[in-house]
Amino acid sequence: MKYGGIYIHVPFCIKKCPYCNFYSVTKLSYINPFIKSVIKEINNRKNKSFIANSIYFGGGTPTLIQPDMIAELISAIRNNFTILPDSEITAEANPGTINKKNLPLLKEAGINRLNIGIQSFNDSVLKTLNRIHTAKEAQTAYYDAKNAGFSNIGIDLIYAVPGQTLKDMIKDFKKAVNLSPEHISGYILTLEPKTAIYSDIMNKVLNKTGEKLQSKMFLSAVRFLKNSGYKQYEISNFAKTDRFRSAHNLKYWVGEAYKGFGPSAHSFDKKKRHWNISDIKKYIEKINRDKTVVKQSETLTTEQKTIEFIYLGLRHAGIDIKNFNSKFKTNFLANYNKAIIKLTEEKLIKIVSDKCSLTEKGMLFADYAARILICDRSLKIDFYE
Ligand code: SF4
Repeated sequence: MKYGGIYIHVPFCIKKCPYCNFYSVTKLSYINPFIKSVIKEINNRKNKSFIANSIYFGGGTPTLIQPDMIAELISAIRNNFTILPDSEITAEANPGTINKKNLPLLKEAGINRLNIGIQSFNDSVLKTLNRIHTAKEAQTAYYDAKNAGFSNIGIDLIYAVPGQTLKDMIKDFKKAVNLSPEHISGYILTLEPKTAIYSDIMNKVLNKTGEKLQSKMFLSAVRFLKNSGYKQYEISNFAKTDRFRSAHNLKYWVGEAYKGFGPSAHSFDKKKRHWNISDIKKYIEKINRDKTVVKQSETLTTEQKTIEFIYLGLRHAGIDIKNFNSKFKTNFLANYNKAIIKLTEEKLIKIVSDKCSLTEKGMLFADYAARILICDRSLKIDFYE
């Protein structure tokens, strides 16, 4: 049996990073009413037949709230859903908000996995990203987490930051590997419209990292992490062993059910998806007045399910052809024949033992490959070796 996951969106940050488009606010006076409201939302959606093996506190900055509040939330979750023993309970942690004092308390509260958003070990890159911590503080935060007894720690890095060189990036990955965390995520900086960094690039205040350099950086990061003993299990995610893959994030990639609580949180029951309003004030008011906080919901059509199966399959373990054929009553190799030939000739996908997966080069063009498979075969792009 496959199990579901529980997600809590903690929408608070000390200040907004210029590249981030996750929903969060800097008005920390909302924290107390938020905790009360989210507990009420959890109670309202009680369902003991929902069995989960992962809880994930994301945000925002979950480590901005007090460990006893995290404990309260975990207890509400346990009271309303069936949480298996040994479940993975993760908190995203900003190095500027964790220390010798709160880390042992977070562990006591029930957190058994930390995902630390270090982003870079280079102060000038951290400055461009307007992070609230220095490289030294990030390293100290990691050691403090180790000393507090955390034995499952992930480090997030961002690269292709304006001004960052290939050498700078490799130094970051070397430092991360030297710390020997159980998990490393390396993300190419995404320029999301409506973010400050996007405007700075549009207004030529900052220079966008060219696609050629981005490609080189991606391939160097993947090769370096693989040579350092980390196993790639998704385009940007690497774990020391299978046990240390993110049990929660895997649910998104394999299409498992999850329940999300808090403003902007999404939920999925394998057929229907719904998401909450992205407004802390309205969220609290509506919960207080016993009104729904769901902004919208959609029932996935067969077409949407097919698209997601292809898109997520390519990003994660590859499209399982037998599974695809039985699920969608089709013949993948015959029906997608033209796209498969095109993408294979372009050396972007490979088919081995009933799995259609991206090549190393294909990972750079995952969205394009998915689009070609789904329908659009007219796209033209340049490839970089
Ligand atoms: S701390 Fe994290 S969630 Fe908050 S603004 Fe920065 S990147 Fe976004």
